[in-house]
Amino acid sequence: MSSSQGFELRPTTTPTDAGQRDEILSNPGFGRYFTDHMAHVRWTHAEGWNAGEVRPYGPLSLDPAASVLHYAQEIFEGVKAYRHADGSVWTFRPEKNAARFQASARRLALPELDAETFIGSLKALVSQDVDWVPTPASEAEESSLYLRPFMIASEKFLGVRPSKEVDYYVIASPAAAYFKGGVKPVSIWLSSNYNRAAPGGTGFAKCGGNYAASLAAQKEAETHGCDQVAFLDAVESKWVEELGGMNLFFVFKDGRIVTPALTGTILEGVTRDSVLQLAADAGLKPEERGISIEEWREGVHSGEITEVFACGTAAVITPIGELVSDNDRLSCSDGSGGEVGKSIRKQLLDIQYGRVEDRHGWLT
Ligand code: PMP
Repeated sequence: MSSSQGFELRPTTTPTDAGQRDEILSNPGFGRYFTDHMAHVRWTHAEGWNAGEVRPYGPLSLDPAASVLHYAQEIFEGVKAYRHADGSVWTFRPEKNAARFQASARRLALPELDAETFIGSLKALVSQDVDWVPTPASEAEESSLYLRPFMIASEKFLGVRPSKEVDYYVIASPAAAYFKGGVKPVSIWLSSNYNRAAPGGTGFAKCGGNYAASLAAQKEAETHGCDQVAFLDAVESKWVEELGGMNLFFVFKDGRIVTPALTGTILEGVTRDSVLQLAADAGLKPEERGISIEEWREGVHSGEITEVFACGTAAVITPIGELVSDNDRLSCSDGSGGEVGKSIRKQLLDIQYGRVEDRHGWLT
């Protein structure tokens, strides 16, 4: 039996045929198709982490009493693998995802997976399914292989306590550019009925429950004709936090670029951190601090705030066109989005796709 990165390889006997795979890769959408394999590592309270394996992709066998199904003891991550022009395949700052996965595990009382095994699992799966990493035909295509590591409480037990059996998996799904036909500003619904996270809660963790709780707010956004939802803090309903799946940035006329500080209720985005660095490199003045909804509104009205954008692994940087709430409609950009967001977006993609030097050593 061969192995990769310490993961035993158990290849499928029924791989997807090359023609079918190429057809999928020509129009993958997002999260609909999965590669032929998945990585798996099991943990038990008695033995700790077992040896990992890469095995055929397929349904899990889970006891109906598995605690994840009842109490949502679960965490996940999102990382992309990019194919460069020379055919090589790279991930972007996976050590940041590994660290965030550990922070999420601590909050959800799950066992921590060491960074080496986390990154090893990505490498082992990508190596096995490397033919599934799309080759972008042009700069505009932005296709990649989206990797989804996740960890679930699999013990058959209905008591409310941390599970003594846990399974970690990585699955992979080819992804097209988030914006087909070019980046377009999105409209944002400002949620006043719902909060995403509260002090002492799980806002900083990437756990399924946060996303389950955001769905009603997202539905509300859609009934108001908006693409996504923005959340305010749960205590004062004053401070801007983030979108359901992206961090926010505000660009000021005088060169400041502000993002809400990490207070424990906001997810620490890898893209957010990279934008802060690239903004500083470009001579802008990044600030991590509280930004209130009044400052957002007044800044846009007065012209002090010239751009607002959201950022995350899936869509890179997304300009915010409009902020909609019960009694207000605030236009934050013209139809094209802003120049600062556009420029940082291009720099990030150029690094991810290997078109410029990786000055910060972000690629693995
Ligand atoms: N906030 C939330 C709530 C998210 O789900 C995500 C996506 N992981 C982000 C921000 C952006 O994080 P990243 O840049 O690491 O993708």
